[in-house]
Amino acid sequence: METEAGRFGAHGETIALRALEAMIDAQRLPHALLISGPEGIGKHELALKIAQGVVCGAQRPPCGDCRPCRRIFDPEHRHEPIRHTDVALVQPGGICAVNDHDHSRSRTVGICQIRWVERVTSIKPFEGPNRVVIVDPADALTGDAADAFLKTLEEPPLGVYFVLLSARESLLSETIRSRCRALRLAPLNQQRTEAWLRERLPDLDGAAIRQLARQSRGRVGWLDQELAEGDPLAIRAAQIDELLRLADASRADRLAAAEQLAGRGGQSGPQALDDLLLMLGAWIDWWRDLWLARVGETQRVVHSTLSQSVEAQAARYAPEQISRFLQTLQRTRRYLRNGVNTRLALEAMLLRIPVGQPPGATAAAHGA
Ligand SMILES: [Zn+2]
Ligand SMILES: [Zn+2]
Repeated sequence: METEAGRFGAHGETIALRALEAMIDAQRLPHALLISGPEGIGKHELALKIAQGVVCGAQRPPCGDCRPCRRIFDPEHRHEPIRHTDVALVQPGGICAVNDHDHSRSRTVGICQIRWVERVTSIKPFEGPNRVVIVDPADALTGDAADAFLKTLEEPPLGVYFVLLSARESLLSETIRSRCRALRLAPLNQQRTEAWLRERLPDLDGAAIRQLARQSRGRVGWLDQELAEGDPLAIRAAQIDELLRLADASRADRLAAAEQLAGRGGQSGPQALDDLLLMLGAWIDWWRDLWLARVGETQRVVHSTLSQSVEAQAARYAPEQISRFLQTLQRTRRYLRNGVNTRLALEAMLLRIPVGQPPGATAAAHGA
């Protein structure tokens, strides 16, 4: 049934999520669940739905609409923090057991935060029989914190459910992973993403649907968030405009841009880093499009709504320039994921944007 499949969103049809659904309904959810998958796939949204499944006072499946459900996630106030007393989010910059600690610039989950978890989970839940603790991302746990957390996972307090999230599962210790039931979210294929989009946005034309689906690379969690916040096509167009501006900007302007972008990345931990990685993904898409246009494969470009601009820009660069800069972009993304100095990595990248022919120059040269 369509409505049933929608319970965990577009991923709900997978066998793993069907099984999870049944476990929640039967009140047999594993005490530790590890949800992994690439950035933007929808891990956090899924964790919130699981939390609703555990604490919804109204019914099974959870309604999403009662007071407890809305205090976990309210579609009308998407940026509100969780306000349910029995559902905790443990994240870099989050609450810890020591009063005067300031974690606001932290990128890790420290041991003092795990001490807080221990304290909270040792108390009976306030509203119902159960409590949910979401750790996002679990790969941000420091070594000490992971060791302490392992003890909690080994003997989970009664009625407490831990949901760990990670886009970088390989960074998690084997001992933590072995204590959790694993659930991997994979991107949807192009066809299913387009189908999901057509259902959501029946008025959108084919080129726009195709671009959005390709832009998302099948990560419907990201799409869902983007659509809720505005117009992802317009946001993408603005990201590309910024990139085009930088391609023709002075060295000083590029350095200033690197500093500004790095500031954004350093400000509030992994979430901002993920945003930076998503932006880099947009730029990689764009330069790959230039490559495709250059080799005559225009039907495969991501930016199908900007195809004229893709072709005009592609004509400005030699194929080797494009492929070399693509490698630079990919290397930069790898560096950022590995936690190198954000500003230095962005500076090096922006200074390597190749110098192209002035816009229209090649066309004029060929045309006249
Ligand atoms: Zn509910
Ligand atoms: Zn602390």
